[in-house]
Amino acid sequence: VHPPASVVHSFRAAARRAPDRTALAYFDGRLSYREADALSDSVAGRLAARGVARGDRVALMLQNTPHFVLALLGAWKAGATVVPLNPMYKSAEVTHALDDSGATVLICSDRAWETQLRGTAAATPVRFAVTACELDLQTRDDSRVLGFERLPPPGDTDDLVAVARAGYAAPEGRDPAAGDVALISYTSGTSGRPKGAMNLHGGITYNAERQRTGHPVPEGACYFALAPLFHITGLVCELAACAANAGTLALAYRFEAGVVLDAFLEHRPAYTVGPSTAFMALAAHPAAGPDHFASFAVVSSGGAPVPPALVERFRAEFGPYIRNGYGLTECTAPCASVPPGREAPVDPASGALSVGLPGADTVVRILDDQGREVPFGEHGEIAVRGPQVVPGYWRLPEATAAGFPDGELRTGDIGFMDPDGWLYVVDRKKDMINASGFKVWPREVEDVLHTHPAVREAAVVGVPHAYRGETVKAYVSLRPGTAVGPDELAGYCADRLAAYKYPRQVEILEELPKTTSGKILRRELRSRA
Ligand code: ATP
Repeated sequence: VHPPASVVHSFRAAARRAPDRTALAYFDGRLSYREADALSDSVAGRLAARGVARGDRVALMLQNTPHFVLALLGAWKAGATVVPLNPMYKSAEVTHALDDSGATVLICSDRAWETQLRGTAAATPVRFAVTACELDLQTRDDSRVLGFERLPPPGDTDDLVAVARAGYAAPEGRDPAAGDVALISYTSGTSGRPKGAMNLHGGITYNAERQRTGHPVPEGACYFALAPLFHITGLVCELAACAANAGTLALAYRFEAGVVLDAFLEHRPAYTVGPSTAFMALAAHPAAGPDHFASFAVVSSGGAPVPPALVERFRAEFGPYIRNGYGLTECTAPCASVPPGREAPVDPASGALSVGLPGADTVVRILDDQGREVPFGEHGEIAVRGPQVVPGYWRLPEATAAGFPDGELRTGDIGFMDPDGWLYVVDRKKDMINASGFKVWPREVEDVLHTHPAVREAAVVGVPHAYRGETVKAYVSLRPGTAVGPDELAGYCADRLAAYKYPRQVEILEELPKTTSGKILRRELRSRA
């Protein structure tokens, strides 16, 4: 069975198969497959009429709203490559992405246009912008979906809602092919200037198909978009897999634990995927109970380390087993996951939870510094080859050659594999702490901190030390209603870890800094330290 060429094809097929089924659910608003298909056709027609040609870049900067999906499908139906931008981006980040990708259209919210972008968009070669008013989280009426109070329209812009409703026909002959570039996804740039990974349509549908069949949920069931759609995990595992399954995609603007818990009761989703920090926040919410999770067939977590203690605690308190999955933007979301009916083993030596088994067509190798494969159990850099691996970075031949020698992705992650093929991620190469010449991997120390009942989130970094070179420092946030001091937490780790590994310094914070996709920002903690 071949995956469909693109999400446009899956969406159209669903619109034919189940036209009246709800495609998008947003608080009280609903759009059927027939409606969403027609509205995105209209967006495509307008983009084409305004000069968007096949292969042109359309930047998209929206939260998880129906607008995101309509704009994405509309741009793809016009033959464009979409550049998803984090809606929290500030002027400089947007400028880089627009300049680098050469986007000619920017689709963003009115609010972002007014507050984050006015100068930026004017300074770049963007020909026109399409704006969509994003909706207030607290309003609960039908205007949530398509029709609401708008800010005054900025300069040379179209209004997305008006465009969607205008009933333009999608241009002929523009449907994407599997080998076309669907997205230019900018990496977060922790290692230099952000690079644009070129995700292909066929890579997206391949991984979506693996999600859909590897984590079976009933046809037409509800997928809840916990991960942001601008991030590859959300776009592939939620949006694309849901469309392939002709399911209902439930959206809730952006992650907020209380809002999400209410939405779980309202939509009764069968599937969701999110960063582990989202599950930590849901578990710590005072209202959370097993009822909220009763409808789920599959709950998975990817994009960041999953502490084994979180998985156990979550299952004991709420029911679902959190399935780990490993992926990167460069492999169009997952390349390894925990198959149905199986549970990820925990490595007895390091305490790491396996990230799963590589997909059937995916070859994962563990390499030493010379690029030679190491034996089972030994640490090395994780390298991935498979249909989901991107062909490279947009207009960066040197970075592409370095990052994908012979087409194989070098992930920059250190990992190992056991003889049964289970993959383990030790940590990012660049996050290793060198304490008196001993290697300390932050994730191992974080996993131990997570076994303490008071700990909600933990992040470990290396801080400069006059004698040891670097020393281990832990930042921790606590579960509500608990109290524990830094010394007690340091002692707790000292009882469970080798002397060079346990954190000599512990600092308790209200909240740890995170990216919008929910990853803890160790780099921000390092500069804070
Ligand atoms: P950068 O721009 O620095 O590459 P990023 O976080 O934006 O960072 P992503 O492609 O979003 O890049 O994330 C991929 C990284 O997330 C992986 O390289 C790995 O370090 C980490 N990661 C993803 N899934 C897991 C997992 N299940 N367990 C541990 N780490 C994971």
